Amino acid sequence: MTKAIHVQNLERVYRSAAEPVVALRGVNLEIAAGQFVALKGRSGSGKTTLLNCLGGLDQPTAGTIEVYGRSLHTLDDQALTRWRQQEVGFIFQSFGLLPTLSAYENVELMLRIAGVAKGERNGRARECLDMVGLSKWADHRPYEMSGGQQQRVAIARAIANRPRLILADEATGELDSETAREILALFQAIARSRDLTILLASHDSLVDEYVDEVLHLEDGQIAPQAA
Ligand code: ADP
Ligand code: MG
Repeated sequence: MTKAIHVQNLERVYRSAAEPVVALRGVNLEIAAGQFVALKGRSGSGKTTLLNCLGGLDQPTAGTIEVYGRSLHTLDDQALTRWRQQEVGFIFQSFGLLPTLSAYENVELMLRIAGVAKGERNGRARECLDMVGLSKWADHRPYEMSGGQQQRVAIARAIANRPRLILADEATGELDSETAREILALFQAIARSRDLTILLASHDSLVDEYVDEVLHLEDGQIAPQAA
């Protein structure tokens, strides 16, 4: 079994406020490669903080994170940025697309930023739009698309660099339940076909039917699994 994620004794304390906020208090976690895992827990339980630490967007206060055997704390800022571009795809609740760019341009830009050669970008962007069922929408801008379609563009963009880890934060949070199901089925299909590991933070019970495993975060800790 290839280990995609190995987290030990992870702590994150925010010290910006008058009182320190302990967002993660000793998280231990192992996820095998190719799994689609839901990270559930109520608002404020630490889901976003954990995803941000796993993707190298935030620095833990203590503890270690290994992603496919790479220890994140050993990377300096530049190496971390490079690593993130190559290994991680992010998806957010609010889609995060650039409004003046078409679906195709949104995906292609990500490849450009990651330094993918010009000759390869077009084919890859089209392949990814195809994979999310949006070939015919390549030239449309986000405002011409439904929420579900916009999230598909965001997924195409997230997989364009062929990352091995997708971190999706409340990715179905703004969608009606039927559209949410379509997006969850798409995540499931992508995890299977590309051998990608997907971690989806959510408080929606819909996700349980689609994922391989459900983890519960409670007050900054992984709760013991209910039998
Ligand atoms: P979730 O995504 O599960 O809602 P978060 O990771 O966003 O949880 O938040 C966990 C805890 O950390 C909450 O108490 C939240 O208020 C606090 N928190 C999150 N981000 C910050 C920040 N930048 N500064 C201070 N406290 C924060
Ligand atoms: Mg959150």
